Amino acid sequence: MAYVQIQSLVKSFGEAEIIHGVDLEIEKQEFTVFVGPSGCGKTTLLRLIAGLEEVSAGTIHIGGERVDHLPPAERGLAMVFQNYALYPHMSVFENMAFGLRIARVDKAEMRKRVQAAAEILQITELLERKPRQLSGGQRQRVAIGRAIVRQPKVFLFDEPLSNLDAKLRVQMRVELTRLHQALKATMVYVTHDQVEAMTMADKIVVLNKGHVEQIGRPLELYHAPRNLFVAGFIGSPAMNFLKGRIAGLSANGIAVALAGGGQALVRCRPDGKAVEGASVTLGLRPEALNANGPGDSTIAGKVRMVERLGGDTYIYLATADGSDITVHAPGDIVVAVGDPIPVRFSAEKAYLFDEAGEAFAR
Ligand code: ATP
Repeated sequence: MAYVQIQSLVKSFGEAEIIHGVDLEIEKQEFTVFVGPSGCGKTTLLRLIAGLEEVSAGTIHIGGERVDHLPPAERGLAMVFQNYALYPHMSVFENMAFGLRIARVDKAEMRKRVQAAAEILQITELLERKPRQLSGGQRQRVAIGRAIVRQPKVFLFDEPLSNLDAKLRVQMRVELTRLHQALKATMVYVTHDQVEAMTMADKIVVLNKGHVEQIGRPLELYHAPRNLFVAGFIGSPAMNFLKGRIAGLSANGIAVALAGGGQALVRCRPDGKAVEGASVTLGLRPEALNANGPGDSTIAGKVRMVERLGGDTYIYLATADGSDITVHAPGDIVVAVGDPIPVRFSAEKAYLFDEAGEAFAR
């Protein structure tokens, strides 16, 4: 049995079912990220694990023990919130020690654990300060410290970095990954930010409208999204989608007649659903497109906007059928708004989805 095992989990608030039967396994020491758009149920799922919400149906096991009927304090978990939830009148030390004091851990042990956690988080010199005397990043460390001292079976993080500025967020991302390695802890982390998910996770759980769309390692989801939702959600900037119809099947792959004109060749297995004339969606990652470069298929477009980031350029093209596509190009590419440019891609780099949004096997 996996370390955390969630089976057929359902949660309703009144009449409204929010989590629709989620099955999920989390291994010991794994860093698992729940990611999905706002309102998809990721926080609710985390709160169900924590015991802050009651399950409507289904079970949760942690370390082989069924916990879904236990109160939060008896589940052996520690949760770190987005707003840090520090006590303003207590010092950093007292904030970190609070949970241990409630649990009647003896004073010497308490001091030892707080000191050790403070050292890991490099906040030893802040232990006597009050939360208002700390920066956002320091407060976040204290909140994490409070979880560490409890030596929980599982750490639960609810969007812990979303109140930090962009630069600090990147820094804390690295620190949390380092912390995960140092503590060898099991961590579950909620975010709506797919970049956080990609960079931190051992395993990503993509949620949408209260159900699991796909579970996998970050690059697994990037290279083999199961459906349109995952394809559009994982990867930044997002995958481009173009409508078309299957024009023919050959040993080289599936030929797609694009609604905006032109044909695209996609290397995927011509299984049962590859029927001539069937409506499909072609998926092309911005980084798979070559502006003025080589490829098996070509899409013609006109440059609508150019975004230069220094090392990279993003070109926004308007195609003949009015769809917009994003193209990743080198920083020094010569291109201007209004230019007509051909964009090419290789058949291996293209994705195909059927009318229901399910990916074709590759
Ligand atoms: P966000 O990224 O915006 O925090 P989320 O994916 O974490 O979103 P949840 O907070 O889990 O989403 O909410 C999922 C759905 O459940 C939403 O439609 C929300 O309105 C609803 N919901 C959450 N808590 C309650 C509650 N206590 N009572 C009623 N509905 C709730």
